[in-house]
Amino acid sequence: MDLIPSNIRSLILDMDGVLWKSEEAIGNLPTIFARIRTRGLKVVFATNNGTRTPDQYVERLAGFGVKVEPWQVLTSSLVVAHLLKKRFPAGGPIFAIGESGLIAALTEKGFTPLAVEEAEKAQAVVIGVDRQINFAKMCEATLLVSHGVPFYATNPDKSFPTPRGIIPGAGAWFSVIVTATNVAPVYAGKPSPALIDEARRLLGTAKEETLVVGDRLDTDIAGGQAAGCPVAQVLSGVSSRGEGEAWRPEVDIIVEDLSTLVG
Ligand SMILES: [Mg+2]
Repeated sequence: MDLIPSNIRSLILDMDGVLWKSEEAIGNLPTIFARIRTRGLKVVFATNNGTRTPDQYVERLAGFGVKVEPWQVLTSSLVVAHLLKKRFPAGGPIFAIGESGLIAALTEKGFTPLAVEEAEKAQAVVIGVDRQINFAKMCEATLLVSHGVPFYATNPDKSFPTPRGIIPGAGAWFSVIVTATNVAPVYAGKPSPALIDEARRLLGTAKEETLVVGDRLDTDIAGGQAAGCPVAQVLSGVSSRGEGEAWRPEVDIIVEDLSTLVG
């Protein structure tokens, strides 16, 4: 007996804190996904983490015994590239601070990521997490944004959890540019509805038929609600039951973990 309302036809699943915690699976993932298949639910995985490509996630999921297709994985990098494509349909040069997930997403949409020496030519700036970030990159991005070049970011997460504690997330890095220029970026990740809207487009299901599942209230749950979908909070990650019960608008389903949700 599962806890999913009978009208639900698809799931948009967050990964970190829902499927795994660092290197450890949360529950028996092959069994969980076998139940989801039996129930006839379509699934898209939606993550604010934009550093990896969908293929890298497909591989990671396969390592946990879950077989998925690359189209089922949506990252904030793919969605920021999608937002840029809407604004610049012909593609063009972009100054991107980010890792392979962001660079590949931009290239696939017909954009040309510029080296820091050529940043001046950019028609837009995009920032995500970049473990090779440095002073020159931040200077060029700040110069461009201060000159009025459109400013985008993958996601607004201020921090990222690791086994040792939190480290700076994309939001922490772009705050340097925001502080210097007083310009805020357009971002793709949750709680912006952009990531959920795009996931739902891939799934082809109506808002009320699409359940957004995540562990964080301020990103997953807020993003699902902003997109107009029912939401389920799992308690296997960051936010607690007390925080979930206090959240407004009310969280539709609060449940121990994904295994309990899909019964
Ligand atoms: Mg999470």
